Amino acid sequence: VKRIGILTSGGDSPGMNAAIRAVTRVGLNAGLEVFGIYNGYKGMVEGYIEPLTREDVSEIVNRGGTILGSARLPEFKDLEVRQKAIRQLEKRGIEAVVVIGGDGSYRGALSLTEMGINCIGLPGTIDNDINCTDFTIGFQTALETVVDAVDKLRDTSNSHHRCSIVEVMGNRCGDLALWAGIACGAEIVVTSETGFDENEILDRLRDLDLIRKKKHAIIVISEKITDVHQLAKKISLNTGFSGRATVLGHIQRGGSPCPFDRMLASQMGEKAVDLLMQGIGGQCVAIHDNKIVSYPIEKALCMPAESRKPLTNLFERLG
Ligand code: ATP
Repeated sequence: VKRIGILTSGGDSPGMNAAIRAVTRVGLNAGLEVFGIYNGYKGMVEGYIEPLTREDVSEIVNRGGTILGSARLPEFKDLEVRQKAIRQLEKRGIEAVVVIGGDGSYRGALSLTEMGINCIGLPGTIDNDINCTDFTIGFQTALETVVDAVDKLRDTSNSHHRCSIVEVMGNRCGDLALWAGIACGAEIVVTSETGFDENEILDRLRDLDLIRKKKHAIIVISEKITDVHQLAKKISLNTGFSGRATVLGHIQRGGSPCPFDRMLASQMGEKAVDLLMQGIGGQCVAIHDNKIVSYPIEKALCMPAESRKPLTNLFERLG
């Protein structure tokens, strides 16, 4: 392999730039030519593809977002659209591609590999919802953002006998909520794994207020579970706390990546280039038990979620 491409796809995450830099630098230093494909699969189809030099990726290791831009292109599922993309790659002699994104992006990478373009996936998402890897690039930075926000909300909740409900991202994965809940000493965590029982939450809050004489309470809840503003109203009506909901939203996607994410992205980028140079495609890179490894995408996509029970138990034991 002589020419490789790199793209970022799906929702962006802090550390994507560090991965772009690693793939570019490791590739160039190994004698490859590296091409940036802009705006994900959309740019691949449209031919928005430019060579990357080592200077092009200077001073981005610390920057959030992605210099290549990201996009969603649902039509990439269509064979003709992918054929068009492949013609764009062939025109430039690009034989292999590193795809940084979530599981949808991995599906695209697998389809391209099956059509003759070796692709390697890197897990770029703050959600930590890719089961084959202990951590995705961006999760730890997003966790820092959430922890910072919850710490601040705690200060003001304390002064006003409030129950702050903080909705965090995670797609269907509760890691961001659970890790933040433990790190912030939240009173209640609600994720798709813990389940959601409104009456149980109201009982718990009444207990915290009347028996434990707590001055405030923090609930960290994953997105897509319930309407947090409605929940806040019910808390105000049915407990001694005044309920206030905060949806952290896209703030969680931004910011300078923390050192862990920069390291993870750099190591994973290196691994991706090594795999492509060995002529391997259709795999995705992961970190498991502190080792950088890779799995066939097909297998990775159907791996069950590792049990989050130990951390859920820890949260309960800390209460
Ligand atoms: P996020 O974590 O932000 O959800 P993601 O990679 O899962 O990231 P998706 O929107 O699901 O985000 O997928 C990104 C892109 O990957 C899609 O817009 C589409 O171009 C491509 N893609 C998704 N699923 C497939 C598929 N089954 N076949 C081919 N391409 C796909």
